[in-house]
Amino acid sequence: MRQIIGKLAVLEKSSRKLEPPKAQRDLLLNEALHYADEFLDHMEDRPVYTTEVEARNFNLFIQETPTPAMDIIKFIKQEVDHPGLNPASGRHIAYIPGGGLFAGAVGDYLAAVFNKYAGLYFASPGAVRLENSLIRWMCEMIGYPDSALGNLTSGGSVANLIGIVTARDAMKITSEKVKKSVVYVSPQIHHSVQKAVRIAGLGECTIRMIELDKHFRINPVHLANAIAADKAAGFVPFLVVASVGTTDTGAIDPIPDIADICSKEHLWLHIDAAYGGFFILSEEGKKIIDGMHLADSIVLDPHKGLFLPYGSGAVLVKNGKHLFDSHYYTADYMQDSKRMNDEISPADLSPELTKHFRGLRLLMPLLHFGLKPFRDALDEKIWLARYFYEKLKLVDGFELGPPPQLSVVIYRYLPRNADPDAFNLKLIARIQNNGEVFLSSTRIHGTVYLRLAVLNFRTHKHHIDLCIEELIAHAKCLDAV
Ligand SMILES: *Cc1c(COP(=O)(O)O)cnc(C)c1O
Repeated sequence: MRQIIGKLAVLEKSSRKLEPPKAQRDLLLNEALHYADEFLDHMEDRPVYTTEVEARNFNLFIQETPTPAMDIIKFIKQEVDHPGLNPASGRHIAYIPGGGLFAGAVGDYLAAVFNKYAGLYFASPGAVRLENSLIRWMCEMIGYPDSALGNLTSGGSVANLIGIVTARDAMKITSEKVKKSVVYVSPQIHHSVQKAVRIAGLGECTIRMIELDKHFRINPVHLANAIAADKAAGFVPFLVVASVGTTDTGAIDPIPDIADICSKEHLWLHIDAAYGGFFILSEEGKKIIDGMHLADSIVLDPHKGLFLPYGSGAVLVKNGKHLFDSHYYTADYMQDSKRMNDEISPADLSPELTKHFRGLRLLMPLLHFGLKPFRDALDEKIWLARYFYEKLKLVDGFELGPPPQLSVVIYRYLPRNADPDAFNLKLIARIQNNGEVFLSSTRIHGTVYLRLAVLNFRTHKHHIDLCIEELIAHAKCLDAV
């Protein structure tokens, strides 16, 4: 016994170092705050993209003894923050931009300090009530009934996976039916959907690509015909995945028509609105987006359309019972965690048990700023894309795709005597390496297009002007060679 007590005294002295006193906490926090301020205040001065010039010596100095706070921050700055893309910058106008609201980071800080167990109502009724209320807020936003349930996920990909697993079970696609079953998608669908289909054990089903109209939207006539042909041939159509805002072109599929077909043919309709869904909060978006409430399940990405730090997705299921049936489970060691009349727990609606308390990072900015600036920022993004489109149309040499439906524009430069695909790839590489603005490229029907995707809350008119200046300068320079 004495030996044990002696040993414990030694260990306690050392392990107590993990709970530093206020002065030491302040030291670390001040270093971090100082660097965060430097990052935020100098956002416009630093390149949006840095190629690594030399192979760095990534020296992770984990050792037995402490490293001074200053050195830790220095390491993060040089080796982690500096290289590559800066998605927090308003000059990141590519892929689907993120954001990183500071108020969201403060929510994360508190969530991590409290370390609330947000997976189970029993453990943290407040955290679970908060997350369920945020889900309810999203359900009301899109017009879902009270029967709807949902989950705050790590992102759109996991949200798509949860939606597709739910569709699979609700439509009773058991293993013997998989080979005969069919999923209908746009060729412009986000690849996380195909990935989710495979992970959900549906890898052997048929993924039928439906022909698009000239605005890159699913053609409902082709969809209806494909379903009829498949049924006649003995297949089991069970799921249509449509998009509110495709990644490539920002196209919005005709949801009411598709929902009509799904309801007649008894198919599950899943909408991937990871990029476009939150535009429904904006004045322009409301005019453009129609019928989201008709879907059986929906994916949203608060780390895109609500500008939150990465790690925030959401899935909503209209008949929440299906979501629960696919994801609940219990175990003997969890027997204390279920009480009568409990609010439903996130752990019963997702593959996760222990999870990050994501609700706080979403709550903090929504309350701190109020909704109005979110609505206006989203409207601003739509108008910025229109501004870019109209302005580039006037520049010689550029060919524009269809007018933007949301905030993505596709376009390319037509060089005087070079292969357009090779030229545009060279052009985008030059602009990216220059580090002033970050734009990206894609291939549509085999042709290289350049993309402008506006979604960062920090992107404003002068950044779009800068994009146009960069495009003109580099295109003219390359075309003169
Ligand atoms: C970004 C995106 C996804 C994937 O979401 P993550 O949050 O990156 O996992 C899915 N669908 C669409 C349309 C997207 O834009």
